[in-house]
Amino acid sequence: MGSTCIFCNIVAKQSPADVKFENEEIIIFKDISPVATHHYLSIPKNHIDNIKSLNTVYHEELLQRLIDEGKRVIVEQDGDLTDSLLGFHLPPFNTVGHLHLHLISPASSLSFKH
Ligand code: 5GP
Ligand code: ZN
Repeated sequence: MGSTCIFCNIVAKQSPADVKFENEEIIIFKDISPVATHHYLSIPKNHIDNIKSLNTVYHEELLQRLIDEGKRVIVEQDGDLTDSLLGFHLPPFNTVGHLHLHLISPASSLSFKH
């Protein structure tokens, strides 16, 4: 039986996803409802609930790798890093309870201004 976490199911290959990168620690796949041409989610394979669960010491390098590999995916997919956005939704304004970094390009195509 699959996990109740949809992103753990993607990690376990029990749910489909358009995977752009993966290694033993991280998986990066296309968002199912992209808000721009490039919209990827960079997630740790090990389940972490959200940014409130991050430890300054233990998770600093993981966060850096979520960003670095995500940036590489944007470049590989011909996105524009100079016109891109990355970030986490702050709980309770997230909908999936498995830590995921959004990487979006072009940011200038988004309807909201920031
Ligand atoms: P949140 O608001 O939690 O930061 O965003 C969750 C994101 O996950 C949303 O952008 C949503 O479109 C995406 N998402 C939700 N379920 C799935 C899924 O099953 N597959 C993929 N690829 N993306 C999903
Ligand atoms: Zn999970």
